[in-house]
Amino acid sequence: MKNTKAYAAASATAPLAPESILRRDPTESDVQIEILFCGVCHSDLHTVRDEWSSVMPTTYPCVPGHEIVGRVTAVGAAVTEHTEGDLVGVGCLVDSDQTCPNCQANVEQFCPDSTFTYNSPDKHGAAPVTYGGYSESIVVDEKFVLKVPGNLDPAGVAPLLCAGITTYSPIRRWGDIKGKKVGIVGLGGLGHMGVKFAKAFGAHVAVFTTSPSKKEDALRLGADEVIISTDAAQMKQNTGSFDFILDTISADHDINAYLGMLALDGNLTLVGAPEKPLQVSAFALLFGRKSLSGSLIGGIKETQEMLDFCGEHNITSDVEVIPIQQVNEAYERLLKSDVKYRFSIDMASLKQE
Ligand SMILES: [Zn+2]
Ligand SMILES: [Zn+2]
Repeated sequence: MKNTKAYAAASATAPLAPESILRRDPTESDVQIEILFCGVCHSDLHTVRDEWSSVMPTTYPCVPGHEIVGRVTAVGAAVTEHTEGDLVGVGCLVDSDQTCPNCQANVEQFCPDSTFTYNSPDKHGAAPVTYGGYSESIVVDEKFVLKVPGNLDPAGVAPLLCAGITTYSPIRRWGDIKGKKVGIVGLGGLGHMGVKFAKAFGAHVAVFTTSPSKKEDALRLGADEVIISTDAAQMKQNTGSFDFILDTISADHDINAYLGMLALDGNLTLVGAPEKPLQVSAFALLFGRKSLSGSLIGGIKETQEMLDFCGEHNITSDVEVIPIQQVNEAYERLLKSDVKYRFSIDMASLKQE
């Protein structure tokens, strides 16, 4: 086992602070990775503050981070897919049973025995729970290590591992959106990636936002139009015209207004997770045979497909790079949506600790 520098929260009310954790020695099938960048996801903040205690209580110390990009520094004897020096990524999952129907169908994120990158029971027993990417290195089974295209900026790649796949997967699942009218609700960490992917797949992309100030940026990111959702006239004008809407809002909002934007057989997929149940009018679905669904990250195969797609289309997340010493301040700014559009931690800064 190896002592490894990390940033951890000691309790739900404590700020993140330097901590030494233990990482296992690589097994036959493991890849050891020096972490270069780690994105800051809303899930990190919720977990650190134990805000999801009813579903997934947090075990402390908690080392968050599941948008990891790094360099391979060692591989086990049986590893075939990765070699020392490779640029690789690790997302929200580091293990699963590999045998259940969901794993067989390449959707390991729905495996009943999956291991999340942090705050999941650690099967290897190096620690009570897994520790995430706010650390100098990580050891992961090779099946859960992704190849990162060399032409992309690693700082901007990190958020692809969660925010990227979260938006890519439902767009792909919907089908061929080329020439279709696609709406992206919300323009934050998730929404800005939704715009980039929908545009790259050839859709006509509209961003729904409450903030007129976001219009210019939405167009810069590739949107064809911006609809101010609080403007009744603009909403009425677009009623019944969308084939697919990706809803990235994690705060309470009126979902029926967006269902009304869908055309016949249109679908609205939720990827944000509002704390309280949303009110859905049955009539909003009945008229026009519309559907409402949800989506959660993506499997390993699809995550690799997404990274390859990003390499081909030169897509990365828009990031603000910060040193790890600013992570607590970043959390406060995240709560105010004061970031364009994702924080990416330069893990070289951890060496100073
Ligand atoms: Zn995440
Ligand atoms: Zn499984």
